[in-house]
Amino acid sequence: MFLYRVIVGPISKALVPKRYRPGVRQACYWLRSLLYLGNRVTCPCCGGRFRKFLPYGVTPRPNALCPRCGSKARHRLVWLYLKGKTRLLSDQLKVLHFAPEYVFRKQLASCPNLFYVTTDLGSLMAMVGSDITHVPFANASFDVVLCNHVLEHVLDDQRAMQELYRVLKPGGWAILQVPIDLHRTETFEDASIVSPEHRERWFNQKDHVRIYGRDYPDRLRAAGFRVQVEFYAKELPCDLRERYALRRNRPIYLCTKAK
Ligand SMILES: [Zn+2]
Repeated sequence: MFLYRVIVGPISKALVPKRYRPGVRQACYWLRSLLYLGNRVTCPCCGGRFRKFLPYGVTPRPNALCPRCGSKARHRLVWLYLKGKTRLLSDQLKVLHFAPEYVFRKQLASCPNLFYVTTDLGSLMAMVGSDITHVPFANASFDVVLCNHVLEHVLDDQRAMQELYRVLKPGGWAILQVPIDLHRTETFEDASIVSPEHRERWFNQKDHVRIYGRDYPDRLRAAGFRVQVEFYAKELPCDLRERYALRRNRPIYLCTKAK
């Protein structure tokens, strides 16, 4: 966002205490969203209606990013799934949310039925600081774990998956999304690729340490999870998929722990 990146961001960095900066950024997003008001697309995460979403990505995809809350297609898909296919918004549940995305955190924190805990290695948005390979909670503490777009940053992802499994109660479930290349049979990783430049070249982002392939569910199963791969966008009528600007072939990984 030009206004934030070039003008407000640097001023905010110089004058505003760190913990208030996300609020400044959100205020900018709200202002930006006014320019896009309309009724062609709807963001299920913030409820906003717009004439279109913003382009987003290294090679910008049109109609991708919510101008108000910053949701991308993957956020909108997961939120619709959580609302439509789980009982997250109705049952009394203890939820642990890693690296809490802004678009979900605000909504979940205000759900009266949830005991909601956020955690992250360094984010100011989290309640508890933690390393995902050494999670500071007892075994079987949570009914639900949410951990999206985290594991691709973690060197020992198997250990992280074991930790997620450990803190989940028997009968509990987790949504563990990662960026995935469905053209790859096997996950690609190479511990000798360490510099940010090389990681960007090989793993598409400076702080990624692998590219997951179609064997991702097997890696989760190795940690103990039962895994269902769901293509929820395909279940929705075409007009709704377009209204929410979803990508049709994106999988959702629903991981459960046996009772
Ligand atoms: Zn939104």
